[in-house]
Amino acid sequence: MGKYLDVTAVGKAFKGTTVMSDMHFSVARGELVSLLGPSGCGKTTLLRIIAGLTPADTGDVLLDGRAITTVPAHRRNISVVFQSYALFPHLTVAENVAFGLRARGTAKVDCGPKVTEALALVRMSEFADRPVAALSGGQQQRVAVARALIVDPVLLLLDEPFSALDRKLRETMQVELKTLLRERDMTAIFVTHDQDEAMGVSDRIAVMNAGRIEQFASPADLYARPASAFVMDFVGLSTRLTGEVIDTDADQSIVRTAYGTIKTPGKRLPGERVTVGVRPELIKTEPGENSVSVTLADAMVLGSKTQLHGRANDGDRLLCELPGMGCGLSAGDSVTFGWAAADTLVYEAAP
Ligand code: ATP
Repeated sequence: MGKYLDVTAVGKAFKGTTVMSDMHFSVARGELVSLLGPSGCGKTTLLRIIAGLTPADTGDVLLDGRAITTVPAHRRNISVVFQSYALFPHLTVAENVAFGLRARGTAKVDCGPKVTEALALVRMSEFADRPVAALSGGQQQRVAVARALIVDPVLLLLDEPFSALDRKLRETMQVELKTLLRERDMTAIFVTHDQDEAMGVSDRIAVMNAGRIEQFASPADLYARPASAFVMDFVGLSTRLTGEVIDTDADQSIVRTAYGTIKTPGKRLPGERVTVGVRPELIKTEPGENSVSVTLADAMVLGSKTQLHGRANDGDRLLCELPGMGCGLSAGDSVTFGWAAADTLVYEAAP
């Protein structure tokens, strides 16, 4: 995949505290990418370095093969949509959208047609003369997106763009924005700490932890083949048990857990402490290649699926997800969770 945006060996410290070092991150033209990770992992810092709003201490940012590391933010033609939208409440919708162009020196008379076009794009044409303060959250977000797109940016950056919206509206706006960006072949980077949002809007997700990218892959790859226990836990739910390798051969290792022994793919060292995981929808309530006996703590009927939560020791989790609502099980029932050895994820346990 070609590198349209290429962040190479970027380092950043604030007052002597290193936030990231040797960061490498690249995005292809037309890709929609998310930076996903817990609070404080450096997502916003990376976004601001790409935008030119925060200078990197070391390393380079290249766009379309050209180093832009020292180009000031206002000359990069990169648009940023902030969490707060940063709209001017006393100006109208049209004036707010035109501001994007005016800030780049376009004369007022020349803004009209572009503003009309940008508002049509986000389906806000009939609101052109309303003050921004009188709009709903979703409408304000559309205005912020129109203002960002009106300048035909080479790259669009969005910092938690949906966080001010309620869940239903957030999902609608995610679909709307994704469709809009795809139609315009826009390259965009979303910052989010919401995994559903990242899975929904992105071609690829960079999962960040403490200033590093732990894995950068498609949503499906991240879910099916998480590179670490951190990624497994951050993206989706899982049954997750700690244990010790007690036997191993060329392609399988046996792990002893508090709930029984488990076959895991791959050769490991006997005595090694490991974390074992399974995605909950891969578990059935019948014996499998791997089976554990479970006493249910809860059976949650969630509509399209039912979650079975088993009683587990501190730090462990026993979770099975069945489709539909009719499993007939409830708290206190004894069941067997069974799954295939090949579906078992295994990682070195955190020290
Ligand atoms: P959140 O999801 O909470 O916004 P984040 O992943 O975007 O988090 P950053 O905002 O990039 O994280 O912050 C990374 C680290 O750098 C944090 O420890 C933060 O306190 C620190 N930091 C960020 N900006 C500054 C600054 N201007 N001065 C000092 N420390 C900063």
